[in-house]
Amino acid sequence: LASRLFHPEDTVIDIEGHKIGGKNKPCIMAGPCSVESEDQLLTIARAVKESGAQLLRGGAYKPRTSPYSFQGLGEEGLKLLLKAKEETGMPIVTEVMDTETFETVEKYADILQIGARNMQNFPLLKKAGRSNKVILLKRGLSATIEEFLMSAEYIMSEGNPNVILCERGIRTFETYTRNTLDISAIPIIQELSHLPIIVDPSHATGKWSTVEPLSKASIAIGAHGLIIEVHHEPELALSDGAQSLKPEKFNRLMNSITKISNMN
Ligand code: PEP
Ligand code: MN
Repeated sequence: LASRLFHPEDTVIDIEGHKIGGKNKPCIMAGPCSVESEDQLLTIARAVKESGAQLLRGGAYKPRTSPYSFQGLGEEGLKLLLKAKEETGMPIVTEVMDTETFETVEKYADILQIGARNMQNFPLLKKAGRSNKVILLKRGLSATIEEFLMSAEYIMSEGNPNVILCERGIRTFETYTRNTLDISAIPIIQELSHLPIIVDPSHATGKWSTVEPLSKASIAIGAHGLIIEVHHEPELALSDGAQSLKPEKFNRLMNSITKISNMN
């Protein structure tokens, strides 16, 4: 179902009028890694909206490497996301980590993110396949393109055709960056599949200074969108501060990718 052989035309997904996929302008999702407080979320949401982001990202349930790290605000975080949506009009992208909290996250989110660590959580994929919400499926840390597309297939085979793929970097021998952005995955996936493919340059690199160059490269190569972490006080962020852009840097990034997408 995810294959171009089955469905030659590009799938275009519409989230409250924002179109993702095909020949549409790149769709930009931005916001903090984690929702931390009302003040934090609203400050960032207003700033990214002002710079032209279409969708608001923010994690309420966080898949952290250490059990002692901040785990997210849970449903309280989802309520804050809804508040930010009411104020800014930006639809919400947030991660769903497990089948137990699925219905709760589904109530608030416009796009349900399945994170890299859960790309092969088959019960979760099947549950997402029975939802009527759009699913943002991230590539697993060491998943091949074929495995990635098979995970999309799990969702689609349960009846949900609305899947957006996200390349977010893969594990390689290189340790200077957090992951290695597999830029070639974008044109390859566009050959193999009709689904929209976006890039997460923040998790791909782990370093804020390389987020803008990777974003430019992704748009130049034809990605359908980006998902970017932004924080007004990255040094105080409860997660992923090192890769978060300050609002003014995000604004500069938006200007440079607009120039590139106008050339495409
Ligand atoms: C995130 O989006 O904050 C996240 C945890 O992403 P990934 O699953 O790609 O690591
Ligand atoms: Mn993050």
